[in-house]
Amino acid sequence: MSITGNYDTDNIFAKIVRGDMPCVKVYEDEHTLAFMDVFPQSRGHMLVIHKREQARNLLDVSTDGLAQIMNSVQKLARAAEQALKPDGIIITQFNGAPAGQTVFHLHFHIIPKYEGDLKPHASGGMADMDALAATADLIKTEL
Ligand code: AMP
Repeated sequence: MSITGNYDTDNIFAKIVRGDMPCVKVYEDEHTLAFMDVFPQSRGHMLVIHKREQARNLLDVSTDGLAQIMNSVQKLARAAEQALKPDGIIITQFNGAPAGQTVFHLHFHIIPKYEGDLKPHASGGMADMDALAATADLIKTEL
């Protein structure tokens, strides 16, 4: 899908926001939702999205909406650092399929980086749901 185009209200993350699809939730506020990536690149890989902005990517979102997302990104990154003690934290965001985007509802990846342990983007297998929930619970204790 191109970098320009219409927002599809039936994309996976819109369904998660509506409650039509499950997620392992880590954090939610008035504007944003954070949940575990089910194909994690590392332990603690999370996604942060806006709940109302119909933005496919960074180019579409309002500045207020972007600020609300980034506020949550920082909050979750700090909690992941405290809970999981990674060696570093990678924040990524892709715009358009040629750039690597696969879900067309704006989202930021928070990817804890541990020495010698990081799968490439969109390469991992599906996570064990109990392990994901346990990691989410650890991060929640630092929020
Ligand atoms: P991107 O390639 O940047 O669009 O990232 C989409 C991300 O969403 C990938 O890292 C996927 O592993 C992740 N993903 C896809 N479906 C789900 C889902 N149902 N719940 C959680 N994460 C998902």
